[in-house]
Amino acid sequence: MKNLIAFAAIAAAAFCVHAQDFPGSKPITIVVPFAAGGPTDRVARDLGEALQKSLGTTVVIDNTAGAGSSIGTAKVARAAPDGYMLLLNHIGMSTMPALYRKLPFNVETDFEYLGMVNEVPMTLIGRPTLPANNFKELTTWIGENKGKINLGNAGLGAASHLCGLLFQSAMKVEMTPVPYKGTAPAISDLLGGQIDLLCDQTTNTTSFIEAKKVKAYGVTTAKRLSTPALKDLPTMAESGLKGFEVSIWHGLYAPKGTPPAVLTKINEGLKTALKDPGFVKKQEGLGAVVVTDDRVQPAQHKKFVASEIAKWGPIIKAAGVYAD
Ligand code: ASP
Repeated sequence: MKNLIAFAAIAAAAFCVHAQDFPGSKPITIVVPFAAGGPTDRVARDLGEALQKSLGTTVVIDNTAGAGSSIGTAKVARAAPDGYMLLLNHIGMSTMPALYRKLPFNVETDFEYLGMVNEVPMTLIGRPTLPANNFKELTTWIGENKGKINLGNAGLGAASHLCGLLFQSAMKVEMTPVPYKGTAPAISDLLGGQIDLLCDQTTNTTSFIEAKKVKAYGVTTAKRLSTPALKDLPTMAESGLKGFEVSIWHGLYAPKGTPPAVLTKINEGLKTALKDPGFVKKQEGLGAVVVTDDRVQPAQHKKFVASEIAKWGPIIKAAGVYAD
């Protein structure tokens, strides 16, 4: 027994030393719970580059996609709580509890919250062959094609899914949802004409809009964006959908039980990364706003996510959408 206690004490001491030395030269993996090449992946890869500098070690991105981010999120909930596997997720973190009846984790109690990263507007885009060239023409086209329109999304509770639900209810029309593991594959199908419409984050759509590879109908912010590639895009409210506003946030999380010293180091690294001029410039060029205030504090972010869970729960329950 004595030996066991001594062993536990030595092991604990060894782990404390380890926590102080974190991260050392060991790589840190950031799990992105959506497909590679999509909007959350873009944020993770840009943030990963900035974190490599601030934390002084390699940052690797792992795309574990599917089921509206719940598969990748579960992977991090189960990971060793040592700071070497983190999760970058978005608003899905707050919609999953109401949408999925059998989640293998609890978003509020199975994670350590590290802080909020950014806010990203969304855009409504269409396949290049869609005859409508602006929102007014889109409204006419929707009216003429009721029952035949496909709307892509990245799974239940993904930003594209929520935005699509709001859009259908604002337009009082039902469209056929087409789920993907992320909006990267959804945009490929939009480009190929397999789906008609997609509501997606600007971190994914900006380059396609700029290159005029898709039809762009509107931005979901209250005011027009200042990003050069997006500044001519009208807001949905300007086009007649009063109050249609969607902004998506991203946050960084670690498995529950990660040592406080490790969490502090990652949070400090995150704060520095969010001030990295290269990261800020890239995100601004894609219409995103990087968090510079207290929302990057773990406690603030946790409070915010709890308020988002409380906000989305009743909306989702009223809409009657859920997955078993
Ligand atoms: N975040 C998702 C992705 O990266 C898209 C979405 O939420 O709609 O693909």
